[in-house]
Amino acid sequence: MSDILDLLVILTPEHLPTLRRRCPRCDTETVHRCAERFRVNGNGRRLDVWLLYLCDGCGRTWKRTVHTRARPEALGADLVAFERNDPAAVARVAFDPAGVPLDPVPFQVRGPEDLPVAPFRLRLRMDPPFPLRLDQALCRVLDLSRSALVKAVDRGIIDPGGRRALRRPAAEAGAIRVDGAALSARPCAPGSAPEAARPAGSSRSGPA
Ligand SMILES: [Zn+2]
Repeated sequence: MSDILDLLVILTPEHLPTLRRRCPRCDTETVHRCAERFRVNGNGRRLDVWLLYLCDGCGRTWKRTVHTRARPEALGADLVAFERNDPAAVARVAFDPAGVPLDPVPFQVRGPEDLPVAPFRLRLRMDPPFPLRLDQALCRVLDLSRSALVKAVDRGIIDPGGRRALRRPAAEAGAIRVDGAALSARPCAPGSAPEAARPAGSSRSGPA
């Protein structure tokens, strides 16, 4: 069984994540949206860098700390990216869950038209990297309920490295072996209409 098919599926968030924090002007917790701009302030030979967010309620700016009193040479090429509000740099900081409670973000799934029915190896690529648990990614990509996914993992039909691996970030997952029989665990009836965002499996009719 060496010639098993490799299947690459790309997960792309639909927008930058919002976050919730207390706005002093609104005097309550509000949704904050990323303004997709950095602010860089010089302070002698040191630089402060923030990513800016706007309160949904009143438009007040909140500055999310990126660097504090950093030497310009230590920032390297990042400094230019910050000064240009480079979208990749914005996404990298905006999707970093460290220190802030990010709201979940809907994501698109791109892969082949049809999911293969034979055993295959599934590889997930996050573009750009964003926080998503492996079980959430697999339920969506394989069109399984979470209980069906856990059952398939327990039976060895889907092998992400054990059940505990399901709670780890999808971005850290290696190749995941999926047996063709996993399709029999699908909650949908054969031939039922796929969801709009589901990339694969629309013509699958049942287990191999
Ligand atoms: Zn506000």
